[in-house]
Amino acid sequence: MLFKRDPAAGETFPVAKTEAEWRAALSPEAFRVLREHGTERPGTSPLNAEKRPGTFACAGCGAPLFDAAAKYESGTGWPSFFAPIEGAVATRTDRSFFMTRTEVHCAACGGHLGHVFPDGPAPTGQRFCMNGVSLAFRPAGD
Ligand SMILES: [Zn+2]
Repeated sequence: MLFKRDPAAGETFPVAKTEAEWRAALSPEAFRVLREHGTERPGTSPLNAEKRPGTFACAGCGAPLFDAAAKYESGTGWPSFFAPIEGAVATRTDRSFFMTRTEVHCAACGGHLGHVFPDGPAPTGQRFCMNGVSLAFRPAGD
């Protein structure tokens, strides 16, 4: 497995591509969110309404990130989960926009997914507020 440094984060990830490779692999909007820490407009993701059993995978590298059983309606306009698949995501402190938030990214490729907040439902009390464009839904049995 090849490890390459993510210059922005100073971290290594098992899935590493150059900026040009990511640009070629992703839609412009997915590139903006996953690789440039963008945020999609709330209410725009078709995954907000996704309620079937299955798995939400990373749109960048395909790693499974969230089980549909952990999804809930947060009312924010972004797909929200109370827990990730164990080990699938990693976090770092984000101090942009004059706020201190906890940024969430894919543990496999470092792609930016969203943020996690401590106002989620039981059993974890966490709200993983994700950009739908960062995720790819795979219905169970597919
Ligand atoms: Zn990934």
